[in-house]
This record gives sequence, C-alpha cells and structure tokens, in this order.
Amino acid sequence: MTRLLVASRNPHKLAELARMLPELELEPIGPDVQLPPEQGESFAEIALAKARAAAQASGRAAIGEDSGIEAEALGGAPGVRSARYASRGQENALDAENTAKLLREAPAGSPLRYVCALAYVDPAGGREEVFIGTCEGRLAEHPRGEGGFGYDPVFLAAEGPQGKTVAELSPAQKDAISHRGKAARALAEHLRARAGAA
Ligand code: IMP
Repeated sequence: MTRLLVASRNPHKLAELARMLPELELEPIGPDVQLPPEQGESFAEIALAKARAAAQASGRAAIGEDSGIEAEALGGAPGVRSARYASRGQENALDAENTAKLLREAPAGSPLRYVCALAYVDPAGGREEVFIGTCEGRLAEHPRGEGGFGYDPVFLAAEGPQGKTVAELSPAQKDAISHRGKAARALAEHLRARAGAA
C-alpha cells in the first residue's frame, strides 16, 4: 500500500480524504512539522506550499490540500480566505460565523462554487502535480443539516440529490459530487497510471 503524508491537521478534510483514497495509507503530519502561512493567491499555490513543506521536512511523498468557496455575488470571495471570512485577523473564524456572514452578504439562490486543490510532491522523483476539483451550487436561505463541515449547511449542490444542503447528504453522497472527491479521484488515477507505467 502506498504511504502518503498529508499536510493537513483539519480532521474533517483528513477523514474525507481517507474515505476517498482507500487504496492509500494516509498519515497526517506530526506536530513538529511547521506548515507555511496561507499566503498564496490561489488554492493551487497554497496546496503546493503545504505539500512541499511536508515533503521537505520528512523526505517522503506528501499531499497538500487547500479549498474554499467562491460566491459569484461577491466576485469570487471569500475564496482562499474562506476559513477566515468572518474573522478580523489571521485566525480562522467559527464555521457558524462564516456561514452567517455569507448569508448576510450574498443573496439566497445566488451561485456558489467549492474549489479544492490537491498537490502531490514526491521528493524522490522531483515530481510535483496539482489536481483541481470544483462543485457548483447555490446559496440556501437558511443553514440546514448536521453533516459535513464549513459552509455545507448553506450549500445546495447542482449535482446529486436536489433540495438538500450538502450537510443533509450522506458522506458517500457528498464524496460523489464534492470538489475534494473530484480532486482526490484525479490524484488516485494519476498514481495508478504512474504505478502501471513503472
Ligand atoms: P483551508 O483550506 O484550511 O484554508 O480552509 C478551507 C475552508 O473552506 C474551510 O474552513 C471551510 O470553511 C471551507 N471549505 C472547504 N471545503 C469545504 C467543504 O467540503 N465543505 C464546506 N466548507 C468547506
């Protein structure tokens, strides 16, 4: 089984990635590894910086993930600042504060997009790849549902069961349509093709 280090400490993301990549043995980075501050302008840039930091610290192949939500009514904001949207500083805000702010600033029914960048860095082969997954949707009127995390209670996805927020979907239903699911499947496909070519 291929072992891969994951440059994330977000338990929701780690659980989703483990579910989506069952053929890989994913290992979260230890507390000693310092992740770079999230300063990039794109999801890909930030995901790559995280993967490089983990690969450099360990000498092993690593993946980095960065994701967020883009609201059309806000010109693509909060984007790479999604975790800190309702925060005044550099600290992450609570999920409920972020979703409440989105409901205040964007109209119900307006288009949203989740984006996930998954970067793969293999120091042995000097290889770097980035896979992007997106999930289109619309803003709900009120938060609904207990599943998922982040903005899921206000995200009505265009694909999958209609009329439910992502927080009302089962984990398997979310994985099938989510930005992270799509990026993870592209990564898995890439690794399978590489292993086949080796
Ligand atoms: P970061 O990648 O650690 O910067 O955080 C991304 C932020 O985007 C999270 O804290 C969530 O607010 C949001 N986000 C990313 N993926 C999802 C998802 O699958 N569901 C809901 N919110 C998400």
